Amino acid sequence: MDNPLYAGVIVDIRAEAVDRIFQYAIPPQFQGKIQVGHRVLVPFGPRKLEGYVVELSSSLDIAPERLRKIIKPLDSVPIILPSLLELAKWMHSHYAGLLSEALQYMLPPGSRYGKERVGVKTQQLVTLLEPHPQLRPHATAQRRVVEVLQEKPRMLASELVHKAQTSHATLHSLEKLGIISISIATLERTVDWELVPDPPLTLTREQTKACQQIQKEIKGQKRPMLIHGVTGSGKTEIYLRIIEDIISQGKQAIVLVPEIALTPQTVSRFGTRFGERVSVLHSALSPGERFDQWWKIYRGEVDVVVGARSAVFAPTPNLGLIVLDEEHEGTYKQEEGSIRYHTRDVAIKRCALIQGQVLLGSATPALESYHQALQGNYGLVELAKRVESRSLPQVEVVDMREQFEQGNRSMLSYPLKEALEKLSCSDEQAIILLNRRGYSSFVLCRECGHVLYCPNCQVSLTYHQGDGRLHCHYCFHKEILPKRCPHCASRYLRQFGVGTEQVQSVLRQEFPNLKVLRLDADTTRRKGAHGRILQEFATGKAQVLVGTQMVAKGLDFPKVTLVGVLSADLGLNFPDIRAAERTFQLLTQVAGRSGRGDLPGRVIIQAYEPDHFAIRCAQNHDYLGFYRQEISFRRSLGYPPFQHLTRILCSGPQVETEQVVREIHQYLLSLGLAKENIYGPSPAPIGRIQGRYRWQILLKTSDYLGEVLSNLPQSSADVQVVVDIDPLFML
Ligand code: ADP
Ligand code: ZN
Ligand code: ZN
Repeated sequence: MDNPLYAGVIVDIRAEAVDRIFQYAIPPQFQGKIQVGHRVLVPFGPRKLEGYVVELSSSLDIAPERLRKIIKPLDSVPIILPSLLELAKWMHSHYAGLLSEALQYMLPPGSRYGKERVGVKTQQLVTLLEPHPQLRPHATAQRRVVEVLQEKPRMLASELVHKAQTSHATLHSLEKLGIISISIATLERTVDWELVPDPPLTLTREQTKACQQIQKEIKGQKRPMLIHGVTGSGKTEIYLRIIEDIISQGKQAIVLVPEIALTPQTVSRFGTRFGERVSVLHSALSPGERFDQWWKIYRGEVDVVVGARSAVFAPTPNLGLIVLDEEHEGTYKQEEGSIRYHTRDVAIKRCALIQGQVLLGSATPALESYHQALQGNYGLVELAKRVESRSLPQVEVVDMREQFEQGNRSMLSYPLKEALEKLSCSDEQAIILLNRRGYSSFVLCRECGHVLYCPNCQVSLTYHQGDGRLHCHYCFHKEILPKRCPHCASRYLRQFGVGTEQVQSVLRQEFPNLKVLRLDADTTRRKGAHGRILQEFATGKAQVLVGTQMVAKGLDFPKVTLVGVLSADLGLNFPDIRAAERTFQLLTQVAGRSGRGDLPGRVIIQAYEPDHFAIRCAQNHDYLGFYRQEISFRRSLGYPPFQHLTRILCSGPQVETEQVVREIHQYLLSLGLAKENIYGPSPAPIGRIQGRYRWQILLKTSDYLGEVLSNLPQSSADVQVVVDIDPLFML
């Protein structure tokens, strides 16, 4: 095309009816300047709106009198990279969501809310450039600094000044001499996590082999590579080496972690290794900071981007690699908006568009991923050993029914009590996990069996000791615990089920000399709280860390020698096809927190169903055994990865919602979908949230349905309809 005259624009309105390309004229002064990927201001009805140019053409497709002009471009450059525009289009059709929404992911965050600029709070990072410098004889302070750096060639200026007992002035004079460099480490702001030491490691034989295998794939087929490595096998070091390679080729890498706040150590290791060329996209960044980071990445000033889910869209101009650490984690699934994407699939698609490499890593890969690897669609790298010949921890399973028979009414089994007793006379540490996945405590009348429910949601209320009130975890409704049962007026309202708060108070009662910290949704509500609690634990200010799933992830504390799991099997009976998989993953991951230092680890799992294969396999560190049993169950029922599930969820006022879901059902039948592959319509497992009724249809098919389902009928604007391809959570 020589001289494109018309621009196809997607207007930034989140509504199905206008989620299509509108043609606009490009005024003469912007001809040749406005390109595909440009953000523009356009007239739309009576309004002026932001839009995105997704195509240029020289033919007019609408009546000339209806043609309107682009008002102006909003940036000097097209800010949506061509490959990211392709990716947005793919997300739009694959996930049956709005293109305008997919495009939002590709834009600078918060850019619609003005251009707030806040200085990025940074820490100074010192790097030793000259390992054996000639120093003047009396420069003792300088010598001390160099000696400290010879041990650890890169560290925070504050730490260095402290260790070498000197001042920043010494650092500056060394910098002038060219012996060290001082740079800005744009690390996580609100959490003052020390940079972890980064000694030059010699790769183990397994790590070396893994790196070679991955490099070979990068030069050849570029299939996604799955690293299945037991906890503590040194997967992070492999990522770091591969990234170094990618950077040396002038390309960038994106590293995805389940949640930045939960993985401060992993994040720090990237900061330490790559210094100022790393951008950590943390939710604690202010909008201004995120905006600045985005542009830095766009300009190619960043080699490595570390972030959670949405960092998969970072606008790296010459992307070579995407790493997904802990690839099995549920946080990689987007559970909001019209596009319910999975980060793994988006990463694979993005890399396919640019011939990049995807690296997936986990000690407990998602069943889907391991299946792909065994099929040869992914490359498979196995790391069977922990580094430094450390052994995997010894795992005992305690049958809680026997404990009860022996007269133990406590939530702590005798073996766990003994282990904690021993711990209290040592300087070792313990992590206690309360597995409450798919389970919450509730208040029940012992006379009539009445359970207290939230007035807005079909969910039981939970009693919180902190404020002495009943809470709904879905709509945040709170109420005072009534003195009498609202149904029969008896006085015997009792709380059933255990919360982390209660575990903490029991531990404090039974072991008064153990300092106990708690990590869960309640204690981490405030910004930066995660980091503070983990930091306290890391520095040994407490001996025991009690928490929910949060304590199971990625933590690397060498002094933790005991891990206890209360109620390991509570999640097993949960009505979810992934109940066994999640239980196995959780137990294996939390067990992996134990014995990561020089001291051997011990794990005590309390269960009511100790012989369930998810528990036995976790006990024996037997991923493959678990995989084989679970995959045969999935095969026999035609569940993923053998067939795709699709969930259509409708929510809104009672009458309208039921009507819409029925219309959709009729529509699906009219498409020729076989009746036996359509489950429902039926009320969702939680039939009501925040007063909105919820109905669903489940589909089981061998093909993806995204494109087919992009035009679902919807007769009521009050009803929200969401298509979820490969749903992970179905409450
Ligand atoms: P994983 O992610 O596989 O659980 P990590 O990457 O966290 O394991 O590594 C566990 C620990 O082993 C880290 O403290 C890391 O510094 C250390 N480590 C990794 N590779 C080596 C090696 N080759 N030699 C010595 N220590 C290593
Ligand atoms: Zn509620
Ligand atoms: Zn009652």
